[in-house]
Amino acid sequence: MYVVANMNICQGHARCEDICPEIFSTDDNEGKVVIAQSEFPDDLLEKVRLAVRNCPEGALRIVKGGKA
Ligand code: SF4
Repeated sequence: MYVVANMNICQGHARCEDICPEIFSTDDNEGKVVIAQSEFPDDLLEKVRLAVRNCPEGALRIVKGGKA
């Protein structure tokens, strides 16, 4: 499983980082999400899902099987 972000719509709220800091952080200069590890381990699936659901911009997406 991979998580990808659409940088064009990310507004840098860092809500994803609050929910799952293992994967998400925020670039202070760009004000955009930084994904530490696009391919994440299964044990983080629920936290990543929660982060995706709570992104106010809908900028995050989980991709099964490979990057898209
Ligand atoms: S919550 Fe969404 S809009 Fe905010 S930093 Fe994370 S990906 Fe970007």
